[in-house]
Amino acid sequence: MHYTRDEIINAVRAAGIVGAGGAGFPSYLKLQPPKGTVIETVIANGSECEPLLHTDKTLLRTKAHLVVDGVRLSMQAVGAKEGIIGIKGHYQDVVKAVTAALPKDGSIRVHQLENYYPAGDEFLLVYDIKKRIIPEGGLPLQVGVVVNNVLTLSQMAEAMNGKAVTERILTVTGAVEVPVVVSAPVGTSYRELLAAACGVVCDNPVVLDGGPMMGQIVPDLEAGITKATSGIVVLPEGHFVIDMKKISVQQMVKKSKAACCQCFRCSDLCPRNLLGHEIYPHKTMRTIDYNHADPAKHITSAFLCSQCGVCELAACDVMKLSPRKIFAAYRKELLARGVKNPHHEQPKEVRSNFEFSKLALPTLVKKIHLAEYAQREVVHKGQVETNKVRIVLNRHIGAPATPTVSLGQRVLLGDVIGATPQEKMGSIYHASIAGKVTDVSDKLVEITR
Ligand code: SF4
Ligand code: SF4
Repeated sequence: MHYTRDEIINAVRAAGIVGAGGAGFPSYLKLQPPKGTVIETVIANGSECEPLLHTDKTLLRTKAHLVVDGVRLSMQAVGAKEGIIGIKGHYQDVVKAVTAALPKDGSIRVHQLENYYPAGDEFLLVYDIKKRIIPEGGLPLQVGVVVNNVLTLSQMAEAMNGKAVTERILTVTGAVEVPVVVSAPVGTSYRELLAAACGVVCDNPVVLDGGPMMGQIVPDLEAGITKATSGIVVLPEGHFVIDMKKISVQQMVKKSKAACCQCFRCSDLCPRNLLGHEIYPHKTMRTIDYNHADPAKHITSAFLCSQCGVCELAACDVMKLSPRKIFAAYRKELLARGVKNPHHEQPKEVRSNFEFSKLALPTLVKKIHLAEYAQREVVHKGQVETNKVRIVLNRHIGAPATPTVSLGQRVLLGDVIGATPQEKMGSIYHASIAGKVTDVSDKLVEITR
């Protein structure tokens, strides 16, 4: 069926779709490139490069037709002639399932990606598929491409039938009894999802929202998952990944002065550096260690860091330092001072070591001590039911949503419960179960069945 551009954009906005891969960027905005921008290609990001996660692969195995429909809708909205679904060639069953769902006119095809981390970083994805380098601090549309996660695209297809984002598929894995992929209402508690994996099997568990590389520690297991929760990973306290996430910036600065040997390995493996961007984590470490690098350059290069964690978990695994954390702290401080990214160069070519410095996923898994979890079978379990959801209203990029319901109000599945004002960039939130509003604040709506 053919829809107009406005019909697609309005449906995507009304459904509350945000980037499901983790960033939470409002998807209707990606469908509205600035006037004069020519978009040639829509890329569906099915690379799922975080170790241990099987969310996107399961979606592609079971709902490839929805992803293909979403690609077609995006192509219609932005006027692109070509659609490409990026999937790791390592998963041939997924490639086959998606290939079988492609339209016969040849407008959408599968591109088989290498099995490396972070193949799903859209800068690398665009280079791997189109051989175009997105400028420093830039966007895919600057090189004629729109990138969306595969779940986001399937949600777009469902939005055309009036379905809002009320549930999401995710992996629950790590130190759990049975690693699973499940679908759950947005706002289901982490605790209930761990129960869906038959519970935790280690002492002193630490729970991550997201994968081991970029996931964040969950401070409260009663909190609810968000539209951007692609996985829940449990690791024991004291695990290398957890230790690196827990160390504070202050501890890191102190440690770095004694331990950073300026070996260059963090810069050598940094994926954004490999693309030719002027980001050199080892030089930025020098700004704190010796105070004699160029602060204007090596501090503001924090704007070029994707927070992928390669420098922290893979490059500096012996000294256990974290350029990533230093970049995050610098970026926060620069933004607080009103400093904008001054780096906008577009490299003509990638670094000469681009291909052979790619971090193979099996190597990464061993390096960060996840092999015992990676080998386990992951069961596709279906739907998780819950009697209570806690839906956070600010888990997207843009202005926060404010509640549109009041305490005690009854809501039906799919009713709007919070929204960012129409004139501002943001998102809309919907009731993910039917029930009564049992708690409401400017940040959260709780619904009990
Ligand atoms: S932070 Fe680590 S990897 Fe980077 S230069 Fe220092 S010691 Fe080497
Ligand atoms: S987290 Fe580290 S490796 Fe990743 S982009 Fe930032 S500096 Fe580079």
